[in-house]
Amino acid sequence: MDNFDKNLEKMNTENSEFDGENSKFDNENFRKKSVNLENKNSERIVTLAKTAGFCFGVERAVKICHSQEGENKHVYTLGPIIHNEAVVDDLRKRGIDVVNSADEVEDPENTTVIIRSHGVPKSELDALEAKNIKVVSATCPFVSKIHNIAKKAYENGDLLVIIGSREHPEVQGINGWYENQAIIIENEDEAKMFKAPTDKHVVVVAQTTFNYRKFKYIVEILKKICYNTKVMNTICNATEERQSEAREIAKKSEAMLVIGGRHSSNTQKLYEICKSECENTFFIQTLDDLGLVELESFRSVGITAGASTPNNIIKEVQSYVSREQ
Ligand code: SF4
Repeated sequence: MDNFDKNLEKMNTENSEFDGENSKFDNENFRKKSVNLENKNSERIVTLAKTAGFCFGVERAVKICHSQEGENKHVYTLGPIIHNEAVVDDLRKRGIDVVNSADEVEDPENTTVIIRSHGVPKSELDALEAKNIKVVSATCPFVSKIHNIAKKAYENGDLLVIIGSREHPEVQGINGWYENQAIIIENEDEAKMFKAPTDKHVVVVAQTTFNYRKFKYIVEILKKICYNTKVMNTICNATEERQSEAREIAKKSEAMLVIGGRHSSNTQKLYEICKSECENTFFIQTLDDLGLVELESFRSVGITAGASTPNNIIKEVQSYVSREQ
């Protein structure tokens, strides 16, 4: 059984709904609530989550970008490689800029285009190849596997149903491998409206980051409407693993640091989870934000980070917290 199949076996219970208002944190408030321990000189235990930062697919994509530096006269990514400005800026400094389509490439013979981790529709690859542009795929293998399911469903004449957000680039990419004819279902109400075909098998896949519970409810509805349904649970469990580990570390830490972008919903979700287990949890973007935080009285500090937080930022915070006592 390969990693992907193992991954699919696990149930992803991620709750992707995030209430931004309730997740706000307040460092002033945090300082007032700080615990004053008597033994300030005791050694501090700093626990860094193993799952902090890039998931497998994002890390792989960034490494592929680095491997392409200087390989061709022009190297681009098709759209931002991940949703992290620092990473995109760093790549730009290394000579890897962003284009949004094959049309924007002016010197195709001397250009390499890297495909992002969450994939693109086949038509975009075809457009690059038609211009003889060298293509390097950084598509996460978990996503590529869904593309293959979609392509096979099209070839077999099966009806493809994608459970996910129709605006999400990953879903649009999957649909592109089914000639943009898949049925996309976002919620239970839409599932109830599903019309079962009488002459086709139905193949169901999910957006990799879809909420597992919602996926399960939608599948139950679809199965009642259409008995002839093959369901492939293609949800990736990277987010769930990160959240579970953060919760466990927060439970046993006196203070908890969550590192990530202010607008990163997966980082905000981590903050909420940690805050529910550890009152002294706070959210920082970089080491600079730690200046606002009084950590000296805490003997145990946990650290986690969102999926798009670069490792160097995490390491900087970890070594600072380990030294600062
Ligand atoms: S979240 Fe999962 S599917 Fe998406 S890039 Fe990361 S490992 Fe791949």
